[in-house]
Amino acid sequence: MRLRPGLRVLRRSGTEVQVGTDPRWAVRLTDLTTSEVGALLELDDPTRAASPRPRSGAGSGLADVAPLLTAARLTATGDGRRAEGPASADAAVWSLLLPDGDGAALVRARSTRTVGVVGLGPTGLGVAVTLAAAGVGRVLFDDDRPVRSSDVGVGGYRWGDVGTRRDVVAARVLRDAAPRVSVEGAVVPDLLVVVEHGAADPARSAVLVGSGVPHLSVVVREADTVVGPLVDPGHGPCLRCLDLHRADADPVWPTLVAQLVGAPGRPDRPEVGVVAGVGAALAAAVALTVLDGTARPRAGTTYEVGLPDAVPRVREWAVHPDCGCTALPVVGRVPVPTT
Ligand SMILES: [Zn+2]
Repeated sequence: MRLRPGLRVLRRSGTEVQVGTDPRWAVRLTDLTTSEVGALLELDDPTRAASPRPRSGAGSGLADVAPLLTAARLTATGDGRRAEGPASADAAVWSLLLPDGDGAALVRARSTRTVGVVGLGPTGLGVAVTLAAAGVGRVLFDDDRPVRSSDVGVGGYRWGDVGTRRDVVAARVLRDAAPRVSVEGAVVPDLLVVVEHGAADPARSAVLVGSGVPHLSVVVREADTVVGPLVDPGHGPCLRCLDLHRADADPVWPTLVAQLVGAPGRPDRPEVGVVAGVGAALAAAVALTVLDGTARPRAGTTYEVGLPDAVPRVREWAVHPDCGCTALPVVGRVPVPTT
């Protein structure tokens, strides 16, 4: 018998032990013998992570309590192989969250997945390195602009990187965090994360919907960053739907969008560190739920992360009746031009 990785075992009294601390699964075992308490506390031994020692119920002091732990779904049923590196934390937590308790298998499955990241400012690089560290096997980039001094910090750019192409530096940053990650290959991504400044480019949005590739929009604005919506073409609102809603509120919106996205050579605004950090983590979390299939974000949800507090604020958007995107036939996925 093995406990699911990451579970704490805590003594409550001489005859009572608590397994787990999260109210979603924590249990108390009462009326225990001294040997049962000792055997259970031994399961909390952190060295088990480095050298798992499965204990059988019989003869271990756990014969009576093992069935209780299994009934409470606190015992692991996977093959016991453990992930290494930063993704091991994901594996441990997902072993608690998944019905089969095999968080390591979920992390291993990420190694077959590909995510494209367009726009490698601090937010985009933060998304990319978080996904690579979480075990995503291939992360592709699109941003050959040079690293600026304002890019240094969150995400991983250093002062010495200033002036070097962002995609070149990003490859190094990702390999430093996840040596096995691939940053090359001509494959259609499972998900595209598009980080833009000012507003989402309507022309790109139209291409993305036509491609059939799920894409997550991230827009860095003057004082906040909008994470979302996740667009699964044909299902729920697309980025054009959002623009149509904005135009309903302000008929001049298309004129403003054209200026926000149509300024070739105009440098992006610097990205505020705390907003970039929260926005990148939020975008990476959404991406992983898509890749893992663990929880699909509600269609049309955006998270606005802004100063002064950087606490995400949720907005819900509906399909716009004039867009027609949900009436389009799904024609399969084709390569997505990212520029
Ligand atoms: Zn639409």
